[in-house]
Amino acid sequence: MAVDAEAVVKELRSTYTSGKTTTYEWRASQLKALLKIATHHERDIIEALRSDLNKPEHEAFVHEIAAVSSACKLALKELHRWMKPQKVKTTITTFPSSAEIVPEPLGVVLIISTWNYPFSLSLDPVVGAIAAGNTVVLKPSEVAPATSSLLSKLLGEYVDTSGVKVIEGAVPETTALLEQKWDKIFFTGNGTVGRIVLSAAAKHLTPVVLELGGKCPVVIDANINLKVAARRLISGKWGMNNGQTCVAPDYIITTKEYASEVVDTISSELEKFYGKDPLQSKDLSSIINTRHFDRLAKLLDDVKVSGKIVHGGQSDKTNLRIAPTILLDVPEDSLIMKDEIFGPLLPIITVNKIEDCFGVINGKGKPLAAYMFTNDKKLKEEFIRSVSAGGMIINDTVLHLAEPGLPFGGVGESGMGAYHGKFSFDAFSHQKAVLQRSFMGDVAARYPPYTPWKLRF
Ligand code: NAD
Repeated sequence: MAVDAEAVVKELRSTYTSGKTTTYEWRASQLKALLKIATHHERDIIEALRSDLNKPEHEAFVHEIAAVSSACKLALKELHRWMKPQKVKTTITTFPSSAEIVPEPLGVVLIISTWNYPFSLSLDPVVGAIAAGNTVVLKPSEVAPATSSLLSKLLGEYVDTSGVKVIEGAVPETTALLEQKWDKIFFTGNGTVGRIVLSAAAKHLTPVVLELGGKCPVVIDANINLKVAARRLISGKWGMNNGQTCVAPDYIITTKEYASEVVDTISSELEKFYGKDPLQSKDLSSIINTRHFDRLAKLLDDVKVSGKIVHGGQSDKTNLRIAPTILLDVPEDSLIMKDEIFGPLLPIITVNKIEDCFGVINGKGKPLAAYMFTNDKKLKEEFIRSVSAGGMIINDTVLHLAEPGLPFGGVGESGMGAYHGKFSFDAFSHQKAVLQRSFMGDVAARYPPYTPWKLRF
């Protein structure tokens, strides 16, 4: 599909310049339209996600539909407050004066999305962009074609298309869009494309948010409630798109002594959740496509040589299924420990003492999330102090995303900028500094000639 990116931006800029998208009424009406899409089209969304990822209905509802509905509801509830200028105290330097921070929309923004949560990761940033009063182009991922096409159809029906447009397509279409001048680019995807986006943005001095991935560690200390830890780990890994999640636990670090207990407990809980033949489970997503299936199969083959499979390992290429798989004695320099796994394989790195986890984690790029299960106060504090990550959780996984009061974004290799809740509004706003003075209080000391007494004034 050829896209006339220049014409699209021109139309959106003209809509933005008209001022209509900056009004409270327009923003609220568009947020209500997005909410309607999520609530009136549950079935269509669930079917599209099943077609793209074989995503279980429960996951489709909780992680995609409900996530978008609550983002819309929160924005609608808070919009007046978010849009309000914030008064700031002034000092003697500007006396008499008043000061405020006025949030203003950036203008015309581009949102490029990915395939693993193709509904929520597309619309969540759109909620922020609209709440902040911008005009928007959403480019969903071509890797999830059913959801991309549904988004295009539903937004076409529900929202004001003079201000919000969906452009479907792959690399050529995205490249054409990236050549245009935008006022912000919000990208979710891998770091290689993130670099392409950043270079394209640099040409126009366009600010960016990059929501990337990384290898998210899970440290498991001894003397914990291991059964609860195992269940929470399974929920964040296999219970979220079968490991195809940016904040999914990527590898475990535990002590050599504790490793077999960790393996046994996770294995036993996995069997309770997904049965003896997980390839048949209706509660596990499939792998997105053959390319990713082959990538994961290669990682598994490599580990068979360098480490050992202690749970799972079954796969079915015809149906793009891979079972939850745990790998032990994985060398730190093995293939699976190089890049983000983004699938159902979970290697375990063992250390002599749990404090050695810091060297392992900090020897890699900064992850999007880091997790630790422990009851040890000192260890927790050390983890929070010395591990740099987009976000972290003590004694759970992934749940920080569900807290709209917390920013969601990466650091270093895992990205830049953040969103969710008010942070989404801020991501698409400029905080304009406004100082107001009257004609009183005009002090001669600031003007030439600069006589010595003026310097000391
Ligand atoms: P993807 O293949 O869907 O690509 C993402 C977007 O980039 C798509 O819209 C695609 O059309 C576009 N794109 C791809 N190649 C391009 C190119 N050469 N030029 C311009 N545009 C191009 O998704 P992906 O990258 O495979 O996504 C998986 C990655 O995303 C993982 O690393 C994961 O951790 C990360 N991710 C991050 C978050 C987050 O919120 N931080 C969420 C989900 C996924």
